[in-house]
Amino acid sequence: MLKFDILTLFPEMFAGAFSESIINRARERGFVEIALHNIRDYAPGKHRVTDDTPYGGGGGMIMKPEPIFYAVEAVLGVDIPPEGYATLRRQGYPPVILLTPQGRLFNQPLARQMVTTHQHLVLICGRYEGVDERVRQFLATDELSIGDYVLSGGEIGAMVVVDALTRLIPGVLGDDAATAKDSHSEGLLEHPHYTRPAEFRGHGIPDILLSGHHANQQVWRRQQSLARTLARRPDLLETASLTDADHDFLRSLGQGSPVEQQPDSK
Ligand code: SAM
Repeated sequence: MLKFDILTLFPEMFAGAFSESIINRARERGFVEIALHNIRDYAPGKHRVTDDTPYGGGGGMIMKPEPIFYAVEAVLGVDIPPEGYATLRRQGYPPVILLTPQGRLFNQPLARQMVTTHQHLVLICGRYEGVDERVRQFLATDELSIGDYVLSGGEIGAMVVVDALTRLIPGVLGDDAATAKDSHSEGLLEHPHYTRPAEFRGHGIPDILLSGHHANQQVWRRQQSLARTLARRPDLLETASLTDADHDFLRSLGQGSPVEQQPDSK
């Protein structure tokens, strides 16, 4: 069981993403528990203010630290010591992850590492110009970015993290082995897929997939994966773990041998 506590100003945003398909089934079957907490509920004062103008000017609004600290304390049932949450983390309290475009890049190896390491994660979704720096300094134990672009809030980032981790929990997908071949799992992009009909509007499928020869099909899938990665993301090949046969195949591509069945440039 993997538990997510998500702190957000917009909990309603998660309804659709978490109530359909794989995530919904994973929740119903007890693989994941997702608790949404409205940061506004933890803001002190009659008006429950969660943001304020930045010191020193600069425009925009900044999320205040108190509601976020109070929310984490209430959710985890613990007081954060003056030196910060890191002390609690060392005592076994869960990671507190701030979604931010300034964080380390979230990717498939990191998702796999997180799902094997943690049973409980707290995700903080920022809004506006971002959160008061003291949240990063004295509360967050990690900062994740879902890509080099800026979103309006951390909610979509939190959905991405929950989705990517949930489908890696053993038992969540019908075929656990499927995730091992997914793009980015082995440092490569996945091979192309086809399903019925074998011919659609005059477009067929590669003959090998109709041959019934499983060993050759396996080789084809690997080679397609390599060719596709070379064509689209050659940078990945620098760190992918490749066999001698893979290297031979890639070299043969460089010498004008068959590349992908489907052209990559549209
Ligand atoms: N002013 C901030 C900056 O330049 O770093 C960006 C603030 S952004 C408009 C508001 C919030 O959206 C952030 O606090 C963060 O929680 C979330 N966010 C935006 N882009 C993100 C990304 N690429 N990954 C994760 N969270 C992101």
